[in-house]
Amino acid sequence: MADRVEPKPAQLPLPGGQEGAVVRLHPLLCGEATWPDAWPHRRGGPLTKLRALGFRESRNDWVPIPLVAFLVEHPGFGPFLIDTGLDPSVAEDPRENLGRLVSATGAKTVEMKPEQAVPAQLRERRVDPNDVGLVVMTHLHYDHASGVSQFPRATFLVTGREWEAAHGRAAVTKGYRAGHVDHPFNWHAIDFDERGVSSFSTFGRAFDLFGDGSVHLLSTPGHTRGHMSVLLHTGAGDVLAVGDAAYTRRTLRTGHLPAFMDDEHLFRRSLREIQLFSEQRPDAVLIPGHDMGAWRTLEPVYG
Ligand SMILES: [Zn+2]
Repeated sequence: MADRVEPKPAQLPLPGGQEGAVVRLHPLLCGEATWPDAWPHRRGGPLTKLRALGFRESRNDWVPIPLVAFLVEHPGFGPFLIDTGLDPSVAEDPRENLGRLVSATGAKTVEMKPEQAVPAQLRERRVDPNDVGLVVMTHLHYDHASGVSQFPRATFLVTGREWEAAHGRAAVTKGYRAGHVDHPFNWHAIDFDERGVSSFSTFGRAFDLFGDGSVHLLSTPGHTRGHMSVLLHTGAGDVLAVGDAAYTRRTLRTGHLPAFMDDEHLFRRSLREIQLFSEQRPDAVLIPGHDMGAWRTLEPVYG
């Protein structure tokens, strides 16, 4: 890579907003992996992290998890994505794209069929991948950013904090692969700390993406330094793509924490905002980041 890629400040709201707009949401299953249940639901004691990696965990305690992305269709803006799923090469050989360190932990269990690549899934839904003008990145972990290179024409929205974390010290040990994101694409950084950022519902800091209330970007750090969740006002009701701010329904329900967090205090605060939202809006569908049981309850399309 010649020059270091740096994101430009994002200008929100984006064009295309329409009064009263609702979006269509397509959850996309992009692959599967397995992990010990001690990863999403930490065990106590000094071996917490080792057990999350499978040490002393029985094979029966490993669970399948979905690796996911979302297609969203906005009536004025057009199609956009939330996260990118996996690079098509992962279907052949996960190590090439995901790297050796990742392979040493989770990626050796990653399974992907070629037809699960996001461009293939878009075509199946009669959406031309070249028409995807925007990708909202909840965060830059390898299982969310692996497919970035598939969308060279899109503008990528990420928080500035997340970008820094993905390029910071020991980023590779924290689940980032610079090779996934360091493409000279249109990277735009959003800053939830800037003046004028307002709260929305139970969330302290939010952006109204198109200025029409159809899509809100919500600051939910803790899993990673710059994580965000996305609230979608679909024709079939509101859906909250929680991302990895909660991996599972159990964490949403009971607050049981995962083994690895960038910042436990921030994780708890973000989780509380999500839980309060769920209490106030029991009609809303919440999609946790890596819960196969929850994933199987979803509709193919919302709206
Ligand atoms: Zn993650």
